[in-house]
Amino acid sequence: MTATPGTLYIVSAPSGAGKTSLVKALVDAEPNISVSISHTTRGMRPGEVDGLNYHFVSREEFVHMLDHGDFLEHAEVFGNLYGTSQRWVLQALADGHDLILEIDWQGAQQVRHLMPQAKSIFILPPSQHALRHRLNNRGQDSDEIIDRRMREAVSEMSHYVEYDYLVINDDFATALDDLKAIFRANQLRQGSQQVRHGALLASLLA
Ligand code: 5GP
Repeated sequence: MTATPGTLYIVSAPSGAGKTSLVKALVDAEPNISVSISHTTRGMRPGEVDGLNYHFVSREEFVHMLDHGDFLEHAEVFGNLYGTSQRWVLQALADGHDLILEIDWQGAQQVRHLMPQAKSIFILPPSQHALRHRLNNRGQDSDEIIDRRMREAVSEMSHYVEYDYLVINDDFATALDDLKAIFRANQLRQGSQQVRHGALLASLLA
Protein backbone atom coordinates (compact mmCIF):
# COMPACT_ATOMS: atom_id res chain seq x y z
CA MET A 1 0.00 0.00 0.00
CA THR A 2 1.36 3.45 -0.86
CA ALA A 3 1.83 5.73 2.13
CA THR A 4 -0.22 8.92 2.12
CA PRO A 5 2.00 11.88 2.98
CA GLY A 6 2.01 12.39 6.73
CA THR A 7 0.34 15.37 8.36
CA LEU A 8 2.48 18.18 9.63
CA TYR A 9 1.47 19.64 13.00
CA ILE A 10 2.79 22.84 14.49
CA VAL A 11 2.60 23.11 18.26
CA SER A 12 3.36 26.45 19.91
CA ALA A 13 2.97 27.71 23.47
CA PRO A 14 4.49 30.25 25.79
CA SER A 15 7.34 28.98 27.92
CA GLY A 16 5.86 27.20 30.97
CA ALA A 17 2.56 26.13 29.38
CA GLY A 18 3.62 22.48 29.49
CA LYS A 19 4.03 22.01 25.75
CA THR A 20 7.04 19.71 25.85
CA SER A 21 5.53 17.36 28.48
CA LEU A 22 2.22 17.20 26.61
CA VAL A 23 3.88 16.49 23.28
CA LYS A 24 6.10 13.84 24.87
CA ALA A 25 3.06 12.10 26.41
CA LEU A 26 1.25 12.26 23.06
CA VAL A 27 4.17 10.78 21.14
CA ASP A 28 4.65 8.03 23.76
CA ALA A 29 0.99 7.07 23.29
CA GLU A 30 0.85 7.35 19.49
CA PRO A 31 3.58 5.37 17.69
CA ASN A 32 2.98 6.94 14.26
CA ILE A 33 3.69 10.49 15.42
CA SER A 34 7.24 11.84 15.68
CA VAL A 35 8.66 15.13 16.89
CA SER A 36 11.21 17.04 14.87
CA ILE A 37 14.44 17.73 16.76
CA SER A 38 15.41 21.34 16.20
CA HIS A 39 18.87 22.86 15.96
CA THR A 40 19.61 25.60 18.47
CA THR A 41 22.45 27.84 19.55
CA ARG A 42 21.19 28.00 23.16
CA GLY A 43 23.20 26.31 25.88
CA MET A 44 22.17 22.89 27.14
CA ARG A 45 20.01 22.85 30.30
CA PRO A 46 20.60 20.29 33.05
CA GLY A 47 19.15 16.95 32.00
CA GLU A 48 19.05 17.79 28.30
CA VAL A 49 20.75 15.48 25.81
CA ASP A 50 22.33 16.56 22.54
CA GLY A 51 20.52 14.94 19.62
CA LEU A 52 17.48 14.11 21.75
CA ASN A 53 16.08 17.43 23.02
CA TYR A 54 17.88 19.53 20.43
CA HIS A 55 20.89 19.42 18.18
CA PHE A 56 23.04 21.94 20.06
CA VAL A 57 25.26 23.86 17.66
CA SER A 58 27.43 26.98 17.71
CA ARG A 59 26.19 30.21 16.12
CA GLU A 60 28.75 29.73 13.35
CA GLU A 61 27.46 26.24 12.57
CA PHE A 62 23.87 27.49 12.60
CA VAL A 63 24.60 30.37 10.23
CA HIS A 64 26.50 27.97 7.96
CA MET A 65 23.44 25.67 7.80
CA LEU A 66 21.17 28.66 7.23
CA ASP A 67 23.31 29.87 4.34
CA HIS A 68 23.09 26.40 2.79
CA GLY A 69 19.28 26.46 2.92
CA ASP A 70 19.16 23.61 5.45
CA PHE A 71 16.26 25.06 7.47
CA LEU A 72 12.56 24.86 6.66
CA GLU A 73 12.08 27.70 9.14
CA HIS A 74 14.17 29.47 11.73
CA ALA A 75 13.77 32.19 14.33
CA GLU A 76 15.58 34.02 17.09
CA VAL A 77 13.91 33.44 20.47
CA PHE A 78 15.31 34.86 23.75
CA GLY A 79 18.50 35.79 21.90
CA ASN A 80 19.13 32.24 20.66
CA LEU A 81 18.69 30.85 17.16
CA TYR A 82 16.38 27.89 16.51
CA GLY A 83 15.71 26.07 13.25
CA THR A 84 13.95 23.02 11.80
CA SER A 85 15.83 20.74 9.43
CA GLN A 86 14.13 20.88 6.04
CA ARG A 87 15.44 17.55 4.74
CA TRP A 88 14.34 15.59 7.78
CA VAL A 89 10.81 17.02 7.78
CA LEU A 90 10.21 16.44 4.07
CA GLN A 91 11.53 12.87 4.29
CA ALA A 92 9.41 11.98 7.33
CA LEU A 93 6.26 13.35 5.69
CA ALA A 94 7.01 11.58 2.39
CA ASP A 95 7.40 8.33 4.37
CA GLY A 96 3.86 8.83 5.66
CA HIS A 97 4.73 9.80 9.25
CA ASP A 98 2.75 12.43 11.11
CA LEU A 99 5.20 14.98 12.41
CA ILE A 100 5.12 17.63 15.13
CA LEU A 101 7.16 20.80 15.03
CA GLU A 102 7.46 22.40 18.47
CA ILE A 103 8.24 25.90 17.32
CA ASP A 104 7.42 29.51 18.17
CA TRP A 105 4.90 31.77 16.39
CA GLN A 106 7.52 33.19 14.02
CA GLY A 107 8.46 29.72 12.77
CA ALA A 108 4.77 28.79 12.64
CA GLN A 109 4.10 31.71 10.28
CA GLN A 110 6.93 30.60 7.98
CA VAL A 111 5.75 26.97 7.89
CA ARG A 112 2.10 27.96 7.29
CA HIS A 113 3.26 30.04 4.34
CA LEU A 114 5.26 27.13 2.85
CA MET A 115 2.82 24.37 3.79
CA PRO A 116 -0.70 25.74 4.16
CA GLN A 117 -2.03 22.23 4.81
CA ALA A 118 -0.15 22.06 8.15
CA LYS A 119 -2.40 21.96 11.24
CA SER A 120 -1.45 24.31 14.04
CA ILE A 121 -2.18 23.99 17.74
CA PHE A 122 -1.60 26.58 20.44
CA ILE A 123 -1.31 25.45 24.06
CA LEU A 124 -2.31 28.00 26.70
CA PRO A 125 -1.97 28.05 30.49
CA PRO A 126 -5.20 28.42 32.54
CA SER A 127 -4.10 31.85 33.90
CA GLN A 128 -1.15 34.26 34.10
CA HIS A 129 -0.86 33.36 37.77
CA ALA A 130 -0.49 29.65 36.97
CA LEU A 131 2.05 30.43 34.27
CA ARG A 132 4.25 32.46 36.64
CA HIS A 133 3.95 29.71 39.23
CA ARG A 134 5.08 27.11 36.67
CA LEU A 135 7.99 29.27 35.54
CA ASN A 136 9.06 29.66 39.19
CA ASN A 137 8.70 25.96 39.77
CA ARG A 138 11.24 25.15 37.14
CA GLY A 139 13.90 26.45 39.48
CA GLN A 140 16.34 26.83 36.62
CA ASP A 141 16.07 30.54 35.87
CA SER A 142 16.62 33.78 37.83
CA ASP A 143 13.74 36.19 38.76
CA GLU A 144 14.95 38.54 36.06
CA ILE A 145 14.71 35.83 33.42
CA ILE A 146 11.29 34.74 34.73
CA ASP A 147 10.00 38.36 34.52
CA ARG A 148 11.33 38.62 31.00
CA ARG A 149 9.80 35.26 30.05
CA MET A 150 6.41 36.39 31.45
CA ARG A 151 6.52 39.41 29.14
CA GLU A 152 7.62 37.18 26.26
CA ALA A 153 4.82 34.72 27.12
CA VAL A 154 2.15 37.41 26.84
CA SER A 155 3.62 38.49 23.53
CA GLU A 156 3.71 34.85 22.28
CA MET A 157 0.12 34.24 23.45
CA SER A 158 -1.13 37.25 21.48
CA HIS A 159 -0.63 35.10 18.36
CA TYR A 160 -3.19 32.45 19.36
CA VAL A 161 -5.63 33.71 16.68
CA GLU A 162 -3.31 32.45 13.94
CA TYR A 163 -3.74 28.81 15.07
CA ASP A 164 -6.32 26.18 14.05
CA TYR A 165 -6.75 24.67 17.53
CA LEU A 166 -6.44 25.94 21.11
CA VAL A 167 -5.73 23.62 24.02
CA ILE A 168 -5.88 24.91 27.60
CA ASN A 169 -3.46 23.04 29.84
CA ASP A 170 -5.15 23.30 33.23
CA ASP A 171 -5.49 19.59 33.98
CA PHE A 172 -2.72 17.63 32.20
CA ALA A 173 -4.82 14.53 31.43
CA THR A 174 -7.63 16.64 29.94
CA ALA A 175 -5.21 18.64 27.80
CA LEU A 176 -3.61 15.39 26.59
CA ASP A 177 -7.06 14.02 25.68
CA ASP A 178 -7.77 17.21 23.74
CA LEU A 179 -4.49 16.85 21.82
CA LYS A 180 -5.22 13.19 21.07
CA ALA A 181 -8.68 14.17 19.80
CA ILE A 182 -7.15 16.61 17.31
CA PHE A 183 -4.77 13.96 15.97
CA ARG A 184 -7.42 11.26 15.91
CA ALA A 185 -9.87 13.45 13.99
CA ASN A 186 -7.22 14.19 11.38
CA GLN A 187 -6.40 10.50 10.99
CA LEU A 188 -10.10 9.90 10.23
CA ARG A 189 -10.18 12.35 7.35
CA GLN A 190 -11.56 10.85 4.17
CA GLY A 191 -8.28 10.91 2.21
CA SER A 192 -6.37 9.07 4.94
CA GLN A 193 -9.14 6.58 5.50
CA GLN A 194 -9.33 5.86 1.76
CA VAL A 195 -5.71 4.73 1.78
CA ARG A 196 -6.03 2.83 5.07
CA HIS A 197 -9.29 1.09 4.14
CA GLY A 198 -9.02 0.93 0.36
CA ALA A 199 -9.95 -2.77 0.20
CA LEU A 200 -12.98 -2.33 2.46
CA LEU A 201 -14.26 0.64 0.48
CA ALA A 202 -13.85 -1.24 -2.80
CA SER A 203 -15.68 -4.26 -1.39
CA LEU A 204 -18.53 -2.12 0.02
CA LEU A 205 -19.19 -0.68 -3.41
CA ALA A 206 -18.86 -3.96 -5.33
P1 5GP B 1 13.39 26.47 24.79
O1 5GP B 1 14.73 27.07 24.62
O2 5GP B 1 12.73 26.89 26.10
O3 5GP B 1 13.42 24.97 24.61
O4 5GP B 1 12.47 27.02 23.63
C1 5GP B 1 12.24 28.40 23.51
C2 5GP B 1 11.26 28.66 22.37
O5 5GP B 1 11.85 28.30 21.12
C3 5GP B 1 9.96 27.84 22.47
O6 5GP B 1 8.89 28.72 22.14
C4 5GP B 1 10.13 26.80 21.40
O7 5GP B 1 8.89 26.37 20.86
C5 5GP B 1 10.91 27.57 20.36
N1 5GP B 1 11.59 26.67 19.42
C6 5GP B 1 12.20 25.50 19.67
N2 5GP B 1 12.70 24.96 18.55
C7 5GP B 1 12.36 25.80 17.56
C8 5GP B 1 12.57 25.79 16.13
O8 5GP B 1 13.16 24.89 15.55
N3 5GP B 1 12.09 26.85 15.44
C9 5GP B 1 11.41 27.89 16.04
N4 5GP B 1 10.94 28.86 15.27
N5 5GP B 1 11.18 27.93 17.36
C10 5GP B 1 11.66 26.90 18.11
